[in-house]
Amino acid sequence: MSLSPRIIALLLACLISAVTVVFLTFVEGVTNSMLFVVGVSSFAVSFFLVLYAIEFLVYREVNKMYKTIHKLRIRDFTISRKNLVKSNNPFKKLNDEIFVYVAKKQKEIEELKRLELFRREFLADVSHELKTPIFAAQGFIHTLIDGAIDDEKVRDKFLNKAAKSLDGLDALVKDLVALSQLETGEIKMHFEKVDLHHVTHEVFEQLERVAQKRHTVLKLKTDHSGPFWVKADPQRISQVMTNLVENAIKYGNEDGKVLVTLEEAKKHILVSVKDDGPGIPPEHLSRIFERFYRVDKSRSKERGGTGLGLAIVKHILNAHKTRITVESKLEKGTTFSFKLDKIETP
Ligand code: ADP
Repeated sequence: MSLSPRIIALLLACLISAVTVVFLTFVEGVTNSMLFVVGVSSFAVSFFLVLYAIEFLVYREVNKMYKTIHKLRIRDFTISRKNLVKSNNPFKKLNDEIFVYVAKKQKEIEELKRLELFRREFLADVSHELKTPIFAAQGFIHTLIDGAIDDEKVRDKFLNKAAKSLDGLDALVKDLVALSQLETGEIKMHFEKVDLHHVTHEVFEQLERVAQKRHTVLKLKTDHSGPFWVKADPQRISQVMTNLVENAIKYGNEDGKVLVTLEEAKKHILVSVKDDGPGIPPEHLSRIFERFYRVDKSRSKERGGTGLGLAIVKHILNAHKTRITVESKLEKGTTFSFKLDKIETP
C-alpha cells in the first residue's frame, strides 16, 4: 500500500489525540466535554502540523531531488520515455529513478572498462605484429652491411628475405588502415547493383597464380548461368571474396579444391566458399574473426597472413547488414557462408 502524506498525517493525528485523551482521563476533575474538546483540537493541530512537515519539508525536498535526477535522465537521450518511472509516491519514484540511473551508469562504466582493456590489448598486438617484420628486415640488412654483401649468393638471399619482410609489413599496415577506416565509419559503403558471378570470376583471375603455386583448383558452382545481382559495395564485396578464397587456398591442402557456390533464394543470394583442407578445430571457430587471431601462428605468417583478413570480412559484411558463418570438419574442410540481398531485374 502506498501511504500518501494525508494518510500518514491522519494516522499520526489519531494516535496523538488518542494518547492525549487517554492521559487526560487519569487527571482528576476532567469532564467528558473537556476530553472531547482536547481530543478534537489535538487531532486538528497535529494533523495540520504533520501534514505540513511531510508535505512541505520532506516531500518538497525529495521532489526537488527527484526532479533533478529526472532532468538528468531526460537529457540522456538514449533513455526511452516508457522507462521513466510512474508513481505518485515520491519516495518510491526517487528510489526507482536512482536505481535505474545508477544501473545504467554502471553498465556504461563496465562498457568503458571493456573498451579500455580492448584498446590496450589491441595496441600491444599491433606493436608486436609491427615489430616482427621490422626486426627481421633490420637483421638481414645489418648482416649485409657487416660484410655478407660481398658474397653474391648470400646477398641475393638476404635481400629477398628483407623484401619479403617489408612486403609483409606493407600488407599489415594496409589491412590495419582498412580495418580502422571500417570501424570509424570513415569508409562509406557505396551500394550498387553487383553481379556476384562476375566478381567471383575476377577474384579467381586475380588469385590464379597463388592457386597454381599450391596446385589448387578454383571452381564456381551455380544453380543457373547467372547473372546473380545483389545490392552491395562492389569493391568491398570483392575484398570479402578475395580474403575468403585466398584463405581457402592458403589453409587448404596442396593439390586441393576450392569451391565457390552461388545459390539463389527468394530474397537473397547465398554465397559459400568451401575448401577440402585440414579444417579448424571447434575451440577456435568462434575466435577466428578476432583481430590477429590465428589458429596456427607459424603457418599464417609463413603464408603471408596478417591475421586481419577475417576481421575485415566480418566488418564489411556487417556494413551490408548481413553476417558471416563458418562450418568446419577436421580433415574434411571449412565452409564460410553469407547472404546478400538480391536485386530483381526486369
Ligand atoms: P590470416 O591473415 O592469418 O590468414 P585471417 O583473419 O584471414 O588471418 O584468418 C584467421 C585465421 O583463421 C588464420 O590464421 C587461420 O588459422 C584460420 N583460417 C582462416 N581461413 C581458414 C580456412 N579456410 N581453413 C583453415 N583455417 C582457416
